[in-house]
Amino acid sequence: MTDRSCGDCTLCCKVMAVEALGKPGGSWCGHCKPGRGCLIYETRPDECRNYSCLWLTDRWFGDHWKPSRSKLVLTMSEDGIEIRCDPGFPDAWRKEPFRREIARLAQAGEAEDVTVLVIVGQRMTLITGTSEFDLGVVGPGERIVRELEGTRVIGASVVKTSIAQDGG
Ligand code: SF4
Ligand code: SF4
Repeated sequence: MTDRSCGDCTLCCKVMAVEALGKPGGSWCGHCKPGRGCLIYETRPDECRNYSCLWLTDRWFGDHWKPSRSKLVLTMSEDGIEIRCDPGFPDAWRKEPFRREIARLAQAGEAEDVTVLVIVGQRMTLITGTSEFDLGVVGPGERIVRELEGTRVIGASVVKTSIAQDGG
């Protein structure tokens, strides 16, 4: 943990989906006062209550990663790290030093089988140490399958979840 706090940041209330509210990722929650906070703070869903972005919890990410400044919200997933970009600033993740630091994360992650995914709205890009794979829109019933050469990712595609399970 860190001693950081959200302060004037409310970006996760835009980029994250909230199932309990039927709120899709990439658009402001109707209960959010951007830059101020949650209008239903005391009764907000558990998903919101339990959420902390990686900038809040991990000092590896410097102050410049604060989501309200960087326009990037970092989340740990089962597979690795998801970097959600404010759709109002879809190229924020390509700016330096973010692009360089994202490549470093991806390079370190490759050896540990940790994926790094950039998400802008519903559009996803898989980042590796040396490449990026534009996967387009990845729907809820779909899954990303990586092609590996040793630990190096040399390709990526999107398949229906049932096909991914059949194929192992
Ligand atoms: S994105 Fe992170 S810092 Fe910003 S409001 Fe959400 S949890 Fe707090
Ligand atoms: S309910 Fe509150 S905390 Fe949850 S997304 Fe909406 S504004 Fe944010």
